[in-house]
Amino acid sequence: MQGQLATRTAQRSCCGKGAPCSHPQPTAPLFRPIHPTLATSTTNTSWIARAEPDSNNFVSGPISVNTSNLAAPDPVTAASEPKATRPIDRSKGLWTRCDKCGVILYIKHLKEHHHICYSCNFHLKMSSQERIAHLIDPGTWRPLDETLSPCDPLEFADMKNYTDRIREAQAKTGLQDGVRTGTGLLHGIPVALGVMEFGFMGGSMGSVVGEKLTRLIEYATQEGLALMIICTSGGARMQEGIMSLMQMAKISAALHVHQNVAKLLYISILTSPTTGGVTASFGMLGDVIIAEPQAMIGFAGRRVIEQTLQEQLPDDFQTAESPAGPWAAGPCGTALFPQGRPFRDDWLL
Ligand SMILES: [Zn+2]
Repeated sequence: MQGQLATRTAQRSCCGKGAPCSHPQPTAPLFRPIHPTLATSTTNTSWIARAEPDSNNFVSGPISVNTSNLAAPDPVTAASEPKATRPIDRSKGLWTRCDKCGVILYIKHLKEHHHICYSCNFHLKMSSQERIAHLIDPGTWRPLDETLSPCDPLEFADMKNYTDRIREAQAKTGLQDGVRTGTGLLHGIPVALGVMEFGFMGGSMGSVVGEKLTRLIEYATQEGLALMIICTSGGARMQEGIMSLMQMAKISAALHVHQNVAKLLYISILTSPTTGGVTASFGMLGDVIIAEPQAMIGFAGRRVIEQTLQEQLPDDFQTAESPAGPWAAGPCGTALFPQGRPFRDDWLL
């Protein structure tokens, strides 16, 4: 039986007419990662960017490759600097308001103070570009997979079409989707860094966010880099349904290889808000988890839990300082270690 099957497979027509033929078979691989460093990988879990033999068109499911919104690369700065994007709201104008205490803040002074309210010490939202500029040594940032763009596999529509929402978010942020990934030097140490962008549909995790993070993790694994992901998200992207939920497992699987097979360090940084599927997957999988002070960190929303439990929750519920959090020890704003994951000395070597 097996022999018959093998013979039938070998005689399969390559020209679609059903009869066996002697045409040369295509030698191109069915799976062709966009990033050249992944081309030799046989273990990567990223599942988009598959190409048909002898074709330049990527069979991409919920993802497409969009270069139309990208300006022509500057040969000097394109490989080393964050791409100039349209600024988000807080960078416009002169004044803004603290999300926590409501005090009016002068934006120039706020930026000099690392976006920390000088009245209540609340850490205000920062764009992904600002975070990269704060963390990465100047001139060393190398972005990855900037051209991956979401499709609309479910043809989802609520008040607006999903495609319209994507287009608006892309125009607002200058990004193709809600995360920037890349590599750079952090005080001279090479790291792989992923930064989520809350300004892009609430930092929701769709197929592109999951794919870019998975590729980043796999790149870090192959290159032996420490990994950092700065999380801010409302959770999985409902407009992509099960496609977005699958990203949780995909990213977690790539992280398992990075942490437990390659024995590399992953630092998760939780900023406000980090909720839903991001909390339930890579947000909580860090070897070291660092939370910003007073950051809202949770899974389901406060109102949903109150209605389910039929009781009032404390004011600090779902904040980084909440004693009901998943932390083993440590004050907020310092390194925290998830329960059951002891600190390893070799991280510091
Ligand atoms: Zn404040």
